[in-house]
Amino acid sequence: MTFLTALAQPEKLILDGATGTELNRRGVDTGLPLWSANALMNDRDAKILQQIHEDYLRAGADIITTNTFRTHRRALAPSGNAGRARELTHRAVEIARAAIANVPSDKPRFVAGSISTLEDCYRPDLVPSDDELLDEHSDRIVDLIECGVDLILVETINSIREAVIIARLATATGTPVVVSFVCDREGRILSGESLTDAAGVLLPLGISAIGVNCGPTPNLAKPLFELQVACLDARTSGHQFPLIAYGNIGYADDAVGWVNTDSENPKAYCEHASHWPAKIIGGCCGTTPEHITELKSALK
Ligand SMILES: [Zn+2]
Repeated sequence: MTFLTALAQPEKLILDGATGTELNRRGVDTGLPLWSANALMNDRDAKILQQIHEDYLRAGADIITTNTFRTHRRALAPSGNAGRARELTHRAVEIARAAIANVPSDKPRFVAGSISTLEDCYRPDLVPSDDELLDEHSDRIVDLIECGVDLILVETINSIREAVIIARLATATGTPVVVSFVCDREGRILSGESLTDAAGVLLPLGISAIGVNCGPTPNLAKPLFELQVACLDARTSGHQFPLIAYGNIGYADDAVGWVNTDSENPKAYCEHASHWPAKIIGGCCGTTPEHITELKSALK
C-alpha cells in the first residue's frame, strides 16, 4: 500500500517525529551545531538511532521520520562536514528502512524524509534569500528522493516563503509532500503569517496534507481548527483535506538544542492529541515511545 492510499483510508495514521530528542534521552550527544546528525557519525550511535525507530514502530507508529533534520550542507558546515550531506542523508534513510525490516508487521509502515528550515526553525528572521533556498533545498530533496522515501515531510517551517519554495521542489518529484508549520501561542506561523494564507498557496501546489508541529500540546487545537476551515475542499464534496498534528514537550534552547521535560505525561498528551481534527497525529520533540503507545490506544 502506498502512503497516498493509506491517507485515503478512514483510519488515522500515527507519526513519530521525536527521534532527535529521544537520542538525547538515550545518551547520544545531541549538542549543536550537529544536534541529531551526531547520531550518524559513528556506529554505536547509529545503532541507538535504529533502536529508537524500532521502539516507535513497536509502539504503533505507522510513519517514522528520518533523522535528516540537520543533514544538509548549511547545518553540517560549522563542524567541517558540509561535504557529507548526501552520505549522511542516505545513511539516515537506510537506518529507518532497516528498522522497518526488523519489526515485521501486517500493516504498511512508511518512511517520511524530514526536511526543515535551512536556518533555525524558531527564527523566521533568519530565512535566507530565495536563491539560497532554491539551491540548497533542491539538493536536500534530490538526496532524499534518491533513497526512495515514501513521503517528504516538510516540518517545523516558520514562513510561507520557505514553505512554498520547498513544496514546489518537492511536489515536482511526484513523491507525496506533507507541510507542517511551527506556530506561536495565537496560532500564527512564527513569521506572523496566517495558516489560512499558507493553505491558500500550498494546496494548489499539490501537497497531500498540511498542519502544525513542534508547538506546546495545548496550543495546537486553535491553528488546527483554522486549517480545518481553510482546507474545506470543494473538489472532494466537502471532505476534509488531510491535516497533520504533532506537538512537543519541553523547550528549545540555544546552547543544547532542546531540553526535555516531562510536563505532559502520555495520558495528558493524549487528552489533547486525541481531539485534534487531524488525519496524521503523532509526537514531536520531547515525546517518547510511551506517548505513541498511549496515542495508539486512545485513537482506537
Ligand atoms: Zn519538534
